[in-house]
Amino acid sequence: MAINVEVYKNIVEEIGEKASLVAVSKTKPVEDIVELYKLGQRDFGENYVQELVEKEIALPKDIKWHFIGHLQSNKVKYIASFVHLIHGIDSLKLLQEVNKQAAKNNRVINCLLQVHIAAEETKFGFDENDIKNLDWQAITSLKNVKIVGLMGMASFTENLLQVEREFKLLKTIYDELKLKLPELNTISMGMSGDYGIAIKAGSNMVRIGSLLFGARNYNH
Ligand SMILES: *Cc1c(COP(=O)(O)O)cnc(C)c1O
Repeated sequence: MAINVEVYKNIVEEIGEKASLVAVSKTKPVEDIVELYKLGQRDFGENYVQELVEKEIALPKDIKWHFIGHLQSNKVKYIASFVHLIHGIDSLKLLQEVNKQAAKNNRVINCLLQVHIAAEETKFGFDENDIKNLDWQAITSLKNVKIVGLMGMASFTENLLQVEREFKLLKTIYDELKLKLPELNTISMGMSGDYGIAIKAGSNMVRIGSLLFGARNYNH
């Protein structure tokens, strides 16, 4: 399936300077990514390591690859040489592994801590209290990773007020954390169905897949 050029242009215009756009290309063929690339899109998001590695090999080197899924520690090594931003850091152990693999590649890898803001039990991430109680001395001692912000996903619900409340909670957690870590600059929230609400709530990075590429055939 081809991408929808009009929709892409409208989204880019709509979000303007307020947020950066990560085009979520998971399950979609490289041809679709090339189409968006030709329109100027450079940030793409994937959530399976194997798929990301294959696409990275096949596609232009100036693409900034975002890993947005749940990352297993034993797979970090496959993406450490090129990944631009890891959105889903949900444990200190994972962060330590990213640090180790980044060091092997002589890089500093930018990371976002994933915060659990949704009502659903299944989504990964730290909760509000975990973030407050994190051992920041241990984290900042890791020289090959840099925490640049937070990422969150709202509940999958028709209740837009709830979605708004959850995004506002993430923004509040972010603002508080930024007092401690002034270098924070990224709050990644908002997908196809809720990016407008997310931006109003303070998002500066949205991750949009199905609106751009069409519905996915299988659910990741
Ligand atoms: C799939 C995915 C998206 C994009 O979802 P759409 O609803 O297709 O825009 C965004 N963020 C994460 C973490 C995802 O897994």
